[in-house]
This record gives sequence, C-alpha cells and structure tokens, in this order.
Amino acid sequence: MKIADLIERNKSFLSLEFFPPKNRESWPGFFEVVDRLKVLNPLFASVTYGAGGGTQENSLEIVKRMKQEKGIEPLAHLTSVGADEEKISYFVENLIDAGVDNVLALRGDPPRDVEDFDFNTQHFSHASDLVTFIKGKYPDMGVAVAGYPEAHIESPSIREDYRWMKYKIDEGGDFIITQLFFDNRVYFDFVDRLSEMGINVPVVPGVLPIMSLKSAKFILSLCGAAIPGKFLSALEKAHEEGGDEAVYRLGIDYAKEQARELLDKGAPGVHLYTLNRAEACLEIGKSLGF
Ligand code: FAD
Repeated sequence: MKIADLIERNKSFLSLEFFPPKNRESWPGFFEVVDRLKVLNPLFASVTYGAGGGTQENSLEIVKRMKQEKGIEPLAHLTSVGADEEKISYFVENLIDAGVDNVLALRGDPPRDVEDFDFNTQHFSHASDLVTFIKGKYPDMGVAVAGYPEAHIESPSIREDYRWMKYKIDEGGDFIITQLFFDNRVYFDFVDRLSEMGINVPVVPGVLPIMSLKSAKFILSLCGAAIPGKFLSALEKAHEEGGDEAVYRLGIDYAKEQARELLDKGAPGVHLYTLNRAEACLEIGKSLGF
C-alpha cells in the first residue's frame, strides 16, 4: 500500500529511519534494535541507501526483511547519483517482487573524492528526474521525496529551492519527509509556504535526537541545518559540566519536546532519525504515547 494512503488514514503517527550496518556481523544487533522499536508501532520504517558507505544490496536485503520478517511497512531510500535506468529498474523491480510499495527518491550527495562534481553529467541530474522515471515506469509505486525547510545547502535561495520542491511534487511525489531541523517554526513556515504554492501533500517532519556533541556536529556539517544558538550553548555547557551523559539527556529531552509540539500543532506525524539506537528512541516514542 502507498504510504501516502496510510498517512491519510493515521493521524499523529511515528515513523523511523534506519541505516544498514556495513558489516554483516552487525546485522543481528541491528535487527534486535528493530525488534525493540517495533513496540512503538511505527507507521513505516525507512532504510537509507548509500549514505555513509552502505551498499545497494544491503539496503535491498534489509528492506525486504523489514517487510517479510518484521511486518513493518518499509520505505526504501534510493539515490540517483551514479545510476542509470537499468540500475534503478533493478532496484525497484526487486522491491516490487518483495511486496515493497514505496521508495524515497533522492539525488544523493556528490562523491566525497570528486571536486566540483557536476550533477548534469549524470543520467538523472536531480531527484525530480528519478520521480519522473519511477512514476512513468512503475505507476503503482509510492514515491516520497526529501524537503528542506531551511533550503537545501546548494540552493542559491530559499525561493529557488521551494520552486524545485514543487516540481518534485508536480512530477508525482506523494509526500515529503523533511531534513532535520531544531526550530519548529521553520517547519510550520515551510508547510504554509508550500500550501500557498498549491502543494498539499503530507509533509512529515524529520526529528534527530542529539545523542552526542561530536555526532551532532558531524551530521549538521553534512546537511547544513542550523542549530539554535541557545540550544547549542546549552549542549556545550552540559558537556562541560556533565560530559557525554549530560549532552545525551539534554538532546533526548529536546527531541521529546520538539516532537510533542510538532504533533500538537498539527504535523501529520514525526519521522525519527533513530541512528539505529533503541534506548533513546524508545524513550522518545513512549513519551509521545506510542
Ligand atoms: P534534489 O531534489 O535533486 O535537490 C538538490 C539540489 O538541486 C537542491 O538545491 C534543489 O534546489 C536543486 N534542484 C532540484 N531539482 C532541480 C531541477 N530539476 N533543476 C535544477 N535544480 C534542481 N542521501 C543518501 O545518500 N542516502 C540516503 O538514504 C539519504 N536519505 C535522505 C533522507 C532525507 C529525508 C533527506 C532530507 C535527505 C537524505 N539524503 C540521503 C541526503 C540527500 O541525498 C542530499 O540532501 C542531496 O544533496 C539532495 O538530495 P535531493 O533528493 O533533495 O536532491
């Protein structure tokens, strides 16, 4: 079933994002985390693709096992950088054979080892090209797309980025999952602006619980999201006074409040970037009543 239809029927849901561990030896531990988080009854679970060096085959197998062994509706991330129609078709047809109905169509980031990488040299230059291709060839596939409340890091302006956001939806994107953010006003503003542009598909906010200062700084450096000065100072102070444990406590409490406010003020659900960590996500999910 298309996840956009599930969203329509389930108000105030929780969904989860996982990344496939690189080494097969880590898979039993990974699936234990999935099993533990199943009690939160996620509406769907997304599985990243290629991010952090993961492989296509690992993503594919984990997505299949999510569906067939864990009974969780998967959303398979799929990036177009370096791919052609054959590679994308192989992935999508494998998903269809496994009964998986939804992908998150992404462009992907430039390869780290190539300077001034030009996406126009690619078969699919943008996520929108991938949406067009998948919707044209596999019309029954649900297709989600990424959205950036603070604008994508490469975009020359917020306005320009929102224009391309609209194009991805016009080409067939069923719903949007946002980049992480820490100030809920940017999310609600994003939703309002999209609505003014005639985009009324669900916009699911992505929430990242900060679990350590080091990983937060690394993730923020990749995606360009801003951390409010007050929150950053509080995290640094917590680190000085109470070390990693205090940062973890503050980060989880912040995520709980952030998610609570998003749901209370009308977000359709919350997509939790789990970082494959069970304990923190269980605490957040339970505090939200899941
Ligand atoms: P696009 O929509 O193509 O946008 C990229 C840039 O091009 C933007 O600046 C946009 O304004 C501009 N643009 C868009 N369309 C056009 C057009 N038609 N013509 C001209 N300009 C255009 N990365 C991974 O490698 N693996 C993952 O699993 C993964 N999961 C993610 C999940 C979420 C929810 C999010 C928000 C991001 C994820 N990413 C992942 C990161 C993502 O690949 C990067 O942010 C990437 O730089 C952009 O991907 P996109 O699909 O948004 O690209």
